[in-house]
Amino acid sequence: MAIPKNFDHQYIESKWFTAWDSDMYRYSGEGIKERFIIDTPPPYPTGNFHLGNALNWCYIDFIARYKRMKGYDVKFPQGWDCHGLPTEVKVETTYNLTKNQIPRAEFRGLCESLTRENIALMKGTMQRLAFSIDWSQEFVTMDKAYYVKTQKSFVQMYNNDLIYRDEHPVNWCPRCETAIAFAEVDYDSRSTILYHLFFEGSDLGSVEIATTRPELLSACVAVAVNPSDERYVRLIGGTVRTPLYNEDVAIIGDEAVDPTFGTGAVMICTFGDKQDVRWWKKHNLPLKKVIGKDGRMTDQRYGGLTIGEAKERIIGDLFESKLLKKQERVEQNVGFHDRCKTPIEILSESQWFVKIDKDAILARAAEIEWIPSYSFHRLKNWTASVEWDWCISRQRIFATPIPVWYCDRCGRVVVAEESWLPLDPTQEAPRCLCECGSSSFAPEYDVLDTWMDSSLSALNAAGWPNAQYKRQFPTQLRPQGHDIIRTWAFYTILRSDALVGSKPWERVIVNGMVLGEDNQKMSKSLGNIIAPESVIEQYGTDAVRQWAAIGGSVGSDVPYNTKDLTASSRFLTKLWNVFRFAMLHLTEGVQPVTYGVQNPSEIWLIYNLVDLVESVTSSMDRFAFDEALKEIRSFVWSTLADHYVEAVKGRLYERDAYSLAALYLALDAIVKLLAPFCPFFAEELFSHINPSAESVHLNSWPAFNLRPRDVTASDPTASSGVVQQITFTASQAEVQEARRTGELVKEIIASVRRYKSEQRIALNARIEGVFVYLNRDMFYGAPDISNALNADIEYRRGKPDIHERVTDVRPDLSSLGPRFKSNAKRMAELINNSPTEEIADQIGKGSVTIDGHVFAPTDFIVKKELFAEGMVVDVIELSEGTILVKRT
Ligand SMILES: [Zn+2]
Ligand SMILES: [Zn+2]
Repeated sequence: MAIPKNFDHQYIESKWFTAWDSDMYRYSGEGIKERFIIDTPPPYPTGNFHLGNALNWCYIDFIARYKRMKGYDVKFPQGWDCHGLPTEVKVETTYNLTKNQIPRAEFRGLCESLTRENIALMKGTMQRLAFSIDWSQEFVTMDKAYYVKTQKSFVQMYNNDLIYRDEHPVNWCPRCETAIAFAEVDYDSRSTILYHLFFEGSDLGSVEIATTRPELLSACVAVAVNPSDERYVRLIGGTVRTPLYNEDVAIIGDEAVDPTFGTGAVMICTFGDKQDVRWWKKHNLPLKKVIGKDGRMTDQRYGGLTIGEAKERIIGDLFESKLLKKQERVEQNVGFHDRCKTPIEILSESQWFVKIDKDAILARAAEIEWIPSYSFHRLKNWTASVEWDWCISRQRIFATPIPVWYCDRCGRVVVAEESWLPLDPTQEAPRCLCECGSSSFAPEYDVLDTWMDSSLSALNAAGWPNAQYKRQFPTQLRPQGHDIIRTWAFYTILRSDALVGSKPWERVIVNGMVLGEDNQKMSKSLGNIIAPESVIEQYGTDAVRQWAAIGGSVGSDVPYNTKDLTASSRFLTKLWNVFRFAMLHLTEGVQPVTYGVQNPSEIWLIYNLVDLVESVTSSMDRFAFDEALKEIRSFVWSTLADHYVEAVKGRLYERDAYSLAALYLALDAIVKLLAPFCPFFAEELFSHINPSAESVHLNSWPAFNLRPRDVTASDPTASSGVVQQITFTASQAEVQEARRTGELVKEIIASVRRYKSEQRIALNARIEGVFVYLNRDMFYGAPDISNALNADIEYRRGKPDIHERVTDVRPDLSSLGPRFKSNAKRMAELINNSPTEEIADQIGKGSVTIDGHVFAPTDFIVKKELFAEGMVVDVIELSEGTILVKRT
């Protein structure tokens, strides 16, 4: 089949998109080949697979394709992390309703159909990007087939005392009206006002406290001062009265109070912030709830008002009562819900919690290889900052139901048995009576944090809870973004340790973010988001994938830039053209050959190719995709296109079996090395060069064993995987010598071509008389490169005898003028009329005298030429010799 003249990515992509078998990447699980299981991220189905996702998935696909070619049984599943708030909000706005206006099942149904539409959109983009996903392993967390596992994990951890229900302060989003976990709280600083309030003393004395949250005054349960603060130490143990509310609260001493902040006295409320919770626990203080789940006040003074309204009112009331002493502007760190950016409150609520064993998590995390290694520190720092257990219950609908009921008579908690699952307790009753004999239950309406679903992805990939998981766990690789180390990575490690007592993966590879062309993180608000579809349309999938590979080392942020995309397309066009030229000669296939000393250029190419394969393999093993792709590109541009093809052009037309065989060998290997990066392009080329073979993606990664005549088959590489043997009639020493000659040939060709370009001689123009002098014996005669250079070449041994000769001497008027003034013209004539050799001779001695007039060497413009072998020549120096080119 003829190769089209021009490289057209759209034609190639649509051709292979249709031709590829969807079963091609199926995981066998038979255990014959070594397993490589990837714990692929299940993205949230927003409907938009963005460029940041594309980067992460390109990395995964490079690894999956490489490992498959290396002979592994690769499992590359794809899941969808469906549950959660954004979909609920989208449904509410789309249908203009709130979740409580329609039955739960109906609301859930609307969320499910929106999710399925979004999955289809994202799947389309992923398929266009040619990710080698085994779609038979697709999982959808909102489907019973998946969430039955989440429920089982809940029951098992509950039965093992790793999950409990308790009233405890939790982070609460008043907008979403649900509890959230610490991992979902983003802290950010904002400017606010610090108010100084007067607390009247009831016994030891009065005190002025400073607070940013006066609206919590009715929740004040104590006033705290630092015990080393001399201003207040005598007050500790006494009480003061809260302004407006006139309630007596204790004054306590605590080292955590900063005497330099505000007045050095603070009120402890339940709860203004995390520090209040620490003090409340430590000093065993009472609990006063003044904020409701909807974020409105519940106290007797300001009940029904929002927090903002209550704050405004209380400031006014305090001011009128002259209890507000001072206001000052301060910067404060505030927690926001990561999904909706609403400032969170801390409320004491009955919730479900997973116990966090920090030491166990850190021990497991230390068993895992983290790439890049600094990502491990992010996990360590996060773990150290965790203070409360993981709150896993959410007051929402679209999530995995908690399989629990409460007895109406005795209040006992009934947790489902594993065999009843999956189930929704709001739709069915427990299949047993309560221990008290009652059959009347209230269901648990709360649902699970969506990280409870996704933190099972590694176990799910290994086949848990089926017993087969034991053979497949831990998985080999977790690829993910650094922004979800504190959530997805942390929770997955916790759950794997809790459920099966193992680390979830052998290694985790953490990718950076994609930056916009302005080098800012891509975001809607900055307007620098780029949809992958438009980039694919313009540059093609294989160029987009190269951009992902070459943009930086794994873990670094990668900027989107059109320069890389253009360079990627240019590279493919270059290789396409080289390939097309090569295929003119390779159409009839190649004969098996044994290389000998007469093939220095072929031996040089083969050794360079072997070096390339070794270094690309090592780069791929280190996940250094940028290095791997740069090495391949550089080989194609300089080693293959600029040198080898040019050097053997003439021999290709003569159908020289060695040149053809080496060319085939190199192209076949390059196409295979390129397959993980450019799957469409590599497949197209592979189908031309190996028309009867199956897909390049089912082929083996290239590996060679070089066998000079005197090297026996004991090479260790010969025993691992599919290794191509390349044999030589020459001995090891002779092969090395031929390789050196090949290197020299390359230098000669490159030098003469550079010379032509400097002399403005067309590259294909013929030049006569090129004499190559070598300091050493050319091994087994000199290779014929006359054709490659379009020049007559003669080789000679030794150093050429080169003389410099002055061929012309002219007066330099710019020097003569100032010195001889009106006489200058006459002096110039004098010079012009004197014999060149005589003047040249005197210039060499430092001064020139003509007719009694003394001249300086600077008075002359001297033209020199190089002479050798009786010709005027140009000289090109080589590392091991000299080239003379006859001047014409
Ligand atoms: Zn929220
Ligand atoms: Zn009961």
